[in-house]
Amino acid sequence: MGAAVIAAPRWITAAASAVSAPGSPVREMTGGRMKLSFAPYELQLRHSFNLAKFSRTTTPDVLVKIELDGVTGYGEASMPPYLGESVESVTRYLSSLDLSQFADPFRLAEIHDYMDRVAPDNRAAKASVDIALHDLTGKLMGQPWYRIWGLSPENTPDTSFTIGIDTPDIVRQKVAEAEPYKILKVKMGLDHDTETVDIIRRMTARPICVDVNQGWTDKHHALEMCHWLAERNCLFVEQPMPKEMIDETAWLRERSPLPIVADEFLQRLDDVRRAYGVYDAINIKLMKSTGMREAKQMAELAQALGMDVMLGCMTETSCAISAASQLAPVAKWADLDGNLLITNDCFDGAKIVDGKVEIPRDRPGIGAVEA
Ligand code: MG
Repeated sequence: MGAAVIAAPRWITAAASAVSAPGSPVREMTGGRMKLSFAPYELQLRHSFNLAKFSRTTTPDVLVKIELDGVTGYGEASMPPYLGESVESVTRYLSSLDLSQFADPFRLAEIHDYMDRVAPDNRAAKASVDIALHDLTGKLMGQPWYRIWGLSPENTPDTSFTIGIDTPDIVRQKVAEAEPYKILKVKMGLDHDTETVDIIRRMTARPICVDVNQGWTDKHHALEMCHWLAERNCLFVEQPMPKEMIDETAWLRERSPLPIVADEFLQRLDDVRRAYGVYDAINIKLMKSTGMREAKQMAELAQALGMDVMLGCMTETSCAISAASQLAPVAKWADLDGNLLITNDCFDGAKIVDGKVEIPRDRPGIGAVEA
Protein backbone atom coordinates (compact mmCIF):
# COMPACT_ATOMS: atom_id res chain seq x y z
CA MET A 1 0.00 0.00 0.00
CA GLY A 2 1.25 3.54 -0.72
CA ALA A 3 1.87 6.24 1.86
CA ALA A 4 -1.56 7.79 1.66
CA VAL A 5 -1.74 11.47 2.53
CA ILE A 6 -4.58 11.68 5.00
CA ALA A 7 -6.44 14.92 4.70
CA ALA A 8 -8.09 16.04 7.92
CA PRO A 9 -11.90 16.00 7.69
CA ARG A 10 -13.33 19.47 7.03
CA TRP A 11 -16.33 19.96 9.30
CA ILE A 12 -19.47 21.72 8.15
CA THR A 13 -22.13 22.73 10.66
CA ALA A 14 -25.72 21.82 9.87
CA ALA A 15 -27.74 24.46 11.65
CA ALA A 16 -31.45 25.10 11.64
CA SER A 17 -32.33 27.81 9.16
CA ALA A 18 -34.61 29.29 11.80
CA VAL A 19 -31.63 30.29 13.90
CA SER A 20 -29.27 31.32 11.08
CA ALA A 21 -27.92 34.83 11.16
CA PRO A 22 -28.93 36.90 8.11
CA GLY A 23 -26.52 36.37 5.24
CA SER A 24 -24.73 33.53 6.96
CA PRO A 25 -25.11 29.98 5.56
CA VAL A 26 -24.32 28.32 8.87
CA ARG A 27 -24.29 29.30 12.51
CA GLU A 28 -23.57 27.72 15.83
CA MET A 29 -26.34 26.70 18.19
CA THR A 30 -25.66 27.29 21.86
CA GLY A 31 -27.46 27.20 25.17
CA GLY A 32 -27.92 23.48 25.76
CA ARG A 33 -28.93 22.72 22.17
CA MET A 34 -27.45 19.93 20.11
CA LYS A 35 -25.13 21.02 17.31
CA LEU A 36 -24.76 18.69 14.33
CA SER A 37 -21.68 18.94 12.08
CA PHE A 38 -20.53 16.72 9.24
CA ALA A 39 -17.46 16.20 7.06
CA PRO A 40 -17.24 14.22 3.81
CA TYR A 41 -14.35 11.72 4.03
CA GLU A 42 -13.34 9.34 1.23
CA LEU A 43 -12.28 5.91 2.46
CA GLN A 44 -9.25 4.46 0.62
CA LEU A 45 -9.51 0.70 0.17
CA ARG A 46 -6.46 -1.49 0.79
CA HIS A 47 -7.41 -3.71 -2.15
CA SER A 48 -9.84 -2.98 -4.93
CA PHE A 49 -13.14 -4.54 -3.88
CA ASN A 50 -14.51 -7.02 -6.40
CA LEU A 51 -17.99 -8.40 -5.88
CA ALA A 52 -20.32 -10.28 -8.17
CA LYS A 53 -21.75 -7.05 -9.56
CA PHE A 54 -19.07 -4.30 -9.39
CA SER A 55 -15.53 -3.27 -8.41
CA ARG A 56 -14.10 -0.13 -6.73
CA THR A 57 -11.08 1.35 -4.84
CA THR A 58 -12.75 3.95 -2.60
CA THR A 59 -15.94 4.27 -0.56
CA PRO A 60 -17.64 7.63 -0.04
CA ASP A 61 -18.19 8.39 3.64
CA VAL A 62 -19.45 11.25 5.80
CA LEU A 63 -18.29 11.74 9.39
CA VAL A 64 -20.76 13.30 11.81
CA LYS A 65 -20.49 14.87 15.23
CA ILE A 66 -23.18 16.06 17.60
CA GLU A 67 -22.07 18.40 20.36
CA LEU A 68 -23.97 19.26 23.51
CA ASP A 69 -22.63 21.12 26.53
CA GLY A 70 -19.02 20.42 25.62
CA VAL A 71 -19.56 16.68 25.01
CA THR A 72 -19.11 15.33 21.46
CA GLY A 73 -20.73 12.22 20.01
CA TYR A 74 -19.28 10.80 16.78
CA GLY A 75 -21.10 9.03 13.99
CA GLU A 76 -20.54 8.03 10.40
CA ALA A 77 -22.37 7.25 7.16
CA SER A 78 -20.69 4.88 4.71
CA MET A 79 -22.21 4.77 1.24
CA PRO A 80 -21.22 1.85 -0.98
CA PRO A 81 -22.76 2.94 -4.33
CA TYR A 82 -25.17 0.00 -4.71
CA LEU A 83 -27.18 1.19 -1.69
CA GLY A 84 -28.21 4.38 -3.48
CA GLU A 85 -26.84 7.02 -1.10
CA SER A 86 -24.01 9.44 -1.86
CA VAL A 87 -22.05 12.28 -0.21
CA GLU A 88 -24.55 14.65 -1.86
CA SER A 89 -27.66 12.84 -0.60
CA VAL A 90 -26.26 12.41 2.93
CA THR A 91 -25.12 16.02 3.30
CA ARG A 92 -28.43 17.23 1.86
CA TYR A 93 -30.34 15.08 4.35
CA LEU A 94 -28.19 16.12 7.32
CA SER A 95 -28.52 19.80 6.33
CA SER A 96 -32.31 19.42 6.43
CA LEU A 97 -32.31 18.20 10.04
CA ASP A 98 -32.99 20.54 12.94
CA LEU A 99 -31.93 18.70 16.10
CA SER A 100 -32.14 21.93 18.10
CA GLN A 101 -35.87 21.23 18.60
CA PHE A 102 -34.93 18.31 20.86
CA ALA A 103 -33.74 19.51 24.22
CA ASP A 104 -32.86 15.95 25.27
CA PRO A 105 -30.58 13.67 23.20
CA PHE A 106 -31.89 10.63 25.12
CA ARG A 107 -35.22 10.86 23.28
CA LEU A 108 -33.99 8.48 20.60
CA ALA A 109 -37.44 7.18 19.66
CA GLU A 110 -38.77 10.69 19.02
CA ILE A 111 -35.67 11.70 17.09
CA HIS A 112 -35.92 8.57 14.91
CA ASP A 113 -39.61 9.25 14.22
CA TYR A 114 -38.65 12.79 13.24
CA MET A 115 -35.85 11.57 10.94
CA ASP A 116 -38.25 9.18 9.18
CA ARG A 117 -40.77 12.01 8.75
CA VAL A 118 -38.15 14.34 7.24
CA ALA A 119 -37.54 11.83 4.41
CA PRO A 120 -37.88 8.08 3.80
CA ASP A 121 -34.82 5.92 2.96
CA ASN A 122 -31.52 7.81 3.68
CA ARG A 123 -30.61 4.90 5.94
CA ALA A 124 -26.86 5.58 6.18
CA ALA A 125 -27.52 9.27 6.84
CA LYS A 126 -29.93 8.34 9.64
CA ALA A 127 -27.40 5.81 10.97
CA SER A 128 -24.76 8.54 11.25
CA VAL A 129 -27.06 10.62 13.48
CA ASP A 130 -28.15 7.56 15.49
CA ILE A 131 -24.54 6.49 16.13
CA ALA A 132 -23.52 10.03 17.14
CA LEU A 133 -26.51 10.23 19.53
CA HIS A 134 -25.61 6.87 21.10
CA ASP A 135 -22.02 8.08 21.49
CA LEU A 136 -23.20 11.35 23.01
CA THR A 137 -25.71 9.80 25.42
CA GLY A 138 -23.28 7.04 26.41
CA LYS A 139 -20.68 9.69 27.22
CA LEU A 140 -23.24 11.74 29.17
CA MET A 141 -23.94 8.60 31.24
CA GLY A 142 -20.25 7.68 31.39
CA GLN A 143 -21.02 4.14 30.16
CA PRO A 144 -20.35 2.05 27.07
CA TRP A 145 -23.46 0.84 25.23
CA TYR A 146 -22.84 -2.90 25.67
CA ARG A 147 -23.11 -2.20 29.40
CA ILE A 148 -26.20 0.02 29.11
CA TRP A 149 -27.79 -2.79 27.08
CA GLY A 150 -26.78 -5.35 29.71
CA LEU A 151 -24.61 -7.41 27.36
CA SER A 152 -21.52 -9.43 28.34
CA PRO A 153 -18.49 -8.17 26.40
CA GLU A 154 -16.68 -11.52 26.62
CA ASN A 155 -19.50 -13.11 24.59
CA THR A 156 -18.52 -11.56 21.25
CA PRO A 157 -18.22 -13.98 18.31
CA ASP A 158 -15.23 -14.60 16.06
CA THR A 159 -15.19 -12.20 13.15
CA SER A 160 -14.56 -13.26 9.59
CA PHE A 161 -12.07 -11.67 7.22
CA THR A 162 -13.23 -11.09 3.66
CA ILE A 163 -11.49 -12.61 0.66
CA GLY A 164 -12.92 -10.97 -2.48
CA ILE A 165 -13.21 -12.39 -5.97
CA ASP A 166 -9.72 -11.98 -7.41
CA THR A 167 -6.75 -13.50 -9.21
CA PRO A 168 -5.17 -16.59 -7.55
CA ASP A 169 -2.12 -14.53 -6.47
CA ILE A 170 -4.24 -11.89 -4.75
CA VAL A 171 -6.40 -14.59 -3.14
CA ARG A 172 -3.24 -16.22 -1.74
CA GLN A 173 -1.98 -12.83 -0.50
CA LYS A 174 -5.29 -12.10 1.23
CA VAL A 175 -5.39 -15.53 2.89
CA ALA A 176 -1.89 -14.84 4.26
CA GLU A 177 -3.07 -11.41 5.50
CA ALA A 178 -6.01 -13.08 7.23
CA GLU A 179 -3.71 -15.17 9.46
CA PRO A 180 -5.14 -13.84 12.79
CA TYR A 181 -8.74 -14.68 11.82
CA LYS A 182 -10.47 -17.95 12.65
CA ILE A 183 -13.06 -17.62 9.86
CA LEU A 184 -12.54 -16.57 6.24
CA LYS A 185 -15.40 -15.00 4.31
CA VAL A 186 -15.31 -15.90 0.65
CA LYS A 187 -17.10 -13.86 -1.98
CA MET A 188 -18.68 -16.04 -4.66
CA GLY A 189 -21.17 -15.59 -7.47
CA LEU A 190 -18.83 -15.21 -10.45
CA ASP A 191 -17.39 -17.84 -12.78
CA HIS A 192 -14.38 -18.88 -10.67
CA ASP A 193 -16.45 -19.83 -7.64
CA THR A 194 -14.96 -23.20 -6.82
CA GLU A 195 -11.44 -22.13 -7.78
CA THR A 196 -11.22 -19.52 -4.99
CA VAL A 197 -12.39 -22.05 -2.39
CA ASP A 198 -9.93 -24.64 -3.72
CA ILE A 199 -7.02 -22.17 -3.39
CA ILE A 200 -8.03 -21.38 0.18
CA ARG A 201 -8.45 -25.05 1.07
CA ARG A 202 -4.93 -25.78 -0.19
CA MET A 203 -3.59 -23.10 2.21
CA THR A 204 -5.68 -23.57 5.36
CA ALA A 205 -8.31 -25.79 7.00
CA ARG A 206 -9.91 -22.84 8.85
CA PRO A 207 -13.71 -22.67 8.45
CA ILE A 208 -15.05 -20.44 5.72
CA CYS A 209 -18.34 -18.72 5.21
CA VAL A 210 -19.57 -17.74 1.79
CA ASP A 211 -21.27 -14.57 0.54
CA VAL A 212 -22.77 -14.97 -2.92
CA ASN A 213 -24.19 -11.42 -3.13
CA GLN A 214 -27.26 -12.71 -5.07
CA GLY A 215 -25.02 -14.32 -7.68
CA TRP A 216 -26.75 -17.71 -8.16
CA THR A 217 -29.98 -17.60 -10.15
CA ASP A 218 -30.67 -21.35 -10.53
CA LYS A 219 -31.94 -22.98 -7.31
CA HIS A 220 -30.65 -26.43 -8.32
CA HIS A 221 -27.16 -25.03 -8.91
CA ALA A 222 -27.41 -23.17 -5.57
CA LEU A 223 -28.32 -26.40 -3.75
CA GLU A 224 -25.48 -28.27 -5.45
CA MET A 225 -23.07 -25.52 -4.33
CA CYS A 226 -24.38 -25.66 -0.74
CA HIS A 227 -23.64 -29.41 -0.62
CA TRP A 228 -20.21 -28.87 -2.19
CA LEU A 229 -19.41 -26.15 0.38
CA ALA A 230 -20.73 -28.23 3.30
CA GLU A 231 -18.06 -30.82 2.48
CA ARG A 232 -15.42 -28.07 2.68
CA ASN A 233 -15.98 -26.83 6.23
CA CYS A 234 -18.26 -23.93 5.32
CA LEU A 235 -20.39 -22.49 8.15
CA PHE A 236 -23.15 -20.74 6.19
CA VAL A 237 -24.09 -19.20 2.85
CA GLU A 238 -25.09 -15.55 2.67
CA GLN A 239 -27.60 -14.24 0.11
CA PRO A 240 -27.14 -17.09 -2.39
CA MET A 241 -29.90 -15.94 -4.73
CA PRO A 242 -31.37 -12.61 -5.87
CA LYS A 243 -33.43 -11.02 -3.11
CA GLU A 244 -36.58 -11.14 -5.29
CA MET A 245 -36.38 -14.96 -5.63
CA ILE A 246 -38.21 -15.57 -2.36
CA ASP A 247 -39.90 -18.90 -3.19
CA GLU A 248 -36.69 -20.30 -4.65
CA THR A 249 -34.71 -19.21 -1.57
CA ALA A 250 -37.27 -20.84 0.74
CA TRP A 251 -36.99 -24.01 -1.40
CA LEU A 252 -33.21 -23.90 -1.05
CA ARG A 253 -33.38 -23.29 2.70
CA GLU A 254 -35.54 -26.40 3.24
CA ARG A 255 -32.97 -28.58 1.50
CA SER A 256 -29.63 -26.92 2.20
CA PRO A 257 -27.23 -28.60 4.65
CA LEU A 258 -25.93 -25.09 5.47
CA PRO A 259 -27.80 -22.16 7.06
CA ILE A 260 -28.95 -19.52 4.57
CA VAL A 261 -28.37 -15.92 5.69
CA ALA A 262 -30.25 -12.86 4.39
CA ASP A 263 -28.26 -9.73 3.57
CA GLU A 264 -29.41 -7.74 0.52
CA PHE A 265 -32.92 -9.09 1.21
CA LEU A 266 -33.38 -7.00 4.30
CA GLN A 267 -32.66 -3.57 5.65
CA ARG A 268 -34.87 -2.48 8.52
CA LEU A 269 -37.08 -3.90 11.27
CA ASP A 270 -40.10 -4.47 9.02
CA ASP A 271 -38.03 -6.75 6.79
CA VAL A 272 -37.24 -9.22 9.59
CA ARG A 273 -40.73 -10.72 9.50
CA ARG A 274 -40.49 -11.15 5.71
CA ALA A 275 -37.27 -13.12 6.18
CA TYR A 276 -38.95 -15.60 8.53
CA GLY A 277 -39.41 -18.97 6.81
CA VAL A 278 -37.20 -17.90 3.90
CA TYR A 279 -33.84 -17.52 5.65
CA ASP A 280 -32.25 -19.11 8.73
CA ALA A 281 -30.48 -15.95 9.83
CA ILE A 282 -30.20 -12.24 9.07
CA ASN A 283 -27.16 -10.03 8.50
CA ILE A 284 -27.72 -6.75 10.35
CA LYS A 285 -25.64 -3.73 9.34
CA LEU A 286 -25.90 -0.31 10.95
CA MET A 287 -25.85 1.43 7.56
CA LYS A 288 -28.98 -0.51 6.53
CA SER A 289 -30.81 -0.47 9.86
CA THR A 290 -30.57 3.34 10.41
CA GLY A 291 -28.16 2.72 13.26
CA MET A 292 -27.82 1.04 16.64
CA ARG A 293 -31.36 1.51 17.95
CA GLU A 294 -33.13 -0.37 15.17
CA ALA A 295 -30.26 -2.89 14.82
CA LYS A 296 -30.89 -3.96 18.41
CA GLN A 297 -34.63 -4.22 17.76
CA MET A 298 -33.97 -6.31 14.63
CA ALA A 299 -31.70 -8.69 16.56
CA GLU A 300 -34.31 -9.16 19.27
CA LEU A 301 -37.15 -9.79 16.80
CA ALA A 302 -35.06 -12.25 14.77
CA GLN A 303 -34.12 -14.21 17.88
CA ALA A 304 -37.72 -14.22 19.10
CA LEU A 305 -38.63 -15.78 15.73
CA GLY A 306 -35.92 -18.43 16.15
CA MET A 307 -33.51 -16.94 13.62
CA ASP A 308 -29.80 -16.39 14.14
CA VAL A 309 -28.11 -13.01 13.93
CA MET A 310 -25.05 -12.02 12.01
CA LEU A 311 -23.56 -8.56 12.48
CA GLY A 312 -21.98 -7.10 9.36
CA CYS A 313 -20.65 -3.80 8.13
CA MET A 314 -19.67 -1.77 5.08
CA THR A 315 -16.16 -0.43 4.62
CA GLU A 316 -16.21 1.99 7.54
CA THR A 317 -13.82 3.67 9.93
CA SER A 318 -13.41 2.40 13.48
CA CYS A 319 -16.20 4.83 14.43
CA ALA A 320 -19.11 2.81 13.00
CA ILE A 321 -17.29 -0.50 13.57
CA SER A 322 -16.95 0.31 17.29
CA ALA A 323 -20.64 1.23 17.40
CA ALA A 324 -21.52 -2.16 15.85
CA SER A 325 -19.15 -3.95 18.24
CA GLN A 326 -21.31 -2.84 21.18
CA LEU A 327 -24.02 -5.17 19.84
CA ALA A 328 -21.65 -8.04 18.99
CA PRO A 329 -22.50 -10.15 22.08
CA VAL A 330 -25.98 -10.85 20.63
CA ALA A 331 -24.59 -12.10 17.31
CA LYS A 332 -23.77 -15.70 16.43
CA TRP A 333 -21.45 -14.55 13.64
CA ALA A 334 -19.70 -11.24 13.05
CA ASP A 335 -18.20 -9.74 9.95
CA LEU A 336 -16.75 -6.54 11.39
CA ASP A 337 -13.60 -6.12 9.32
CA GLY A 338 -14.60 -2.94 7.44
CA ASN A 339 -12.04 -0.75 9.24
CA LEU A 340 -9.25 -3.20 8.40
CA LEU A 341 -9.99 -2.89 4.68
CA ILE A 342 -9.12 0.84 4.55
CA THR A 343 -5.78 2.69 4.78
CA ASN A 344 -7.05 5.99 6.23
CA ASP A 345 -8.95 5.05 9.40
CA CYS A 346 -9.28 8.28 11.42
CA PHE A 347 -10.64 6.62 14.60
CA ASP A 348 -9.35 4.14 17.16
CA GLY A 349 -11.81 1.72 18.70
CA ALA A 350 -12.91 -1.91 18.51
CA LYS A 351 -10.15 -4.38 17.76
CA ILE A 352 -9.91 -7.95 16.59
CA VAL A 353 -8.00 -9.95 19.22
CA ASP A 354 -7.33 -13.63 18.48
CA GLY A 355 -9.95 -13.45 15.74
CA LYS A 356 -12.63 -12.20 18.14
CA VAL A 357 -14.35 -8.82 18.28
CA GLU A 358 -12.94 -6.90 21.27
CA ILE A 359 -15.23 -4.10 22.44
CA PRO A 360 -13.34 -1.08 23.86
CA ARG A 361 -14.56 -1.82 27.39
CA ASP A 362 -13.42 1.22 29.31
CA ARG A 363 -14.60 3.92 26.94
CA PRO A 364 -18.09 5.41 27.27
CA GLY A 365 -20.47 5.72 24.32
CA ILE A 366 -19.55 3.75 21.20
CA GLY A 367 -15.92 3.40 22.32
CA ALA A 368 -14.25 5.22 19.41
CA VAL A 369 -11.86 8.16 19.75
CA GLU A 370 -10.34 10.30 17.00
CA ALA A 371 -6.98 8.80 16.00
MG1 MG B 1 -23.28 -9.76 2.28
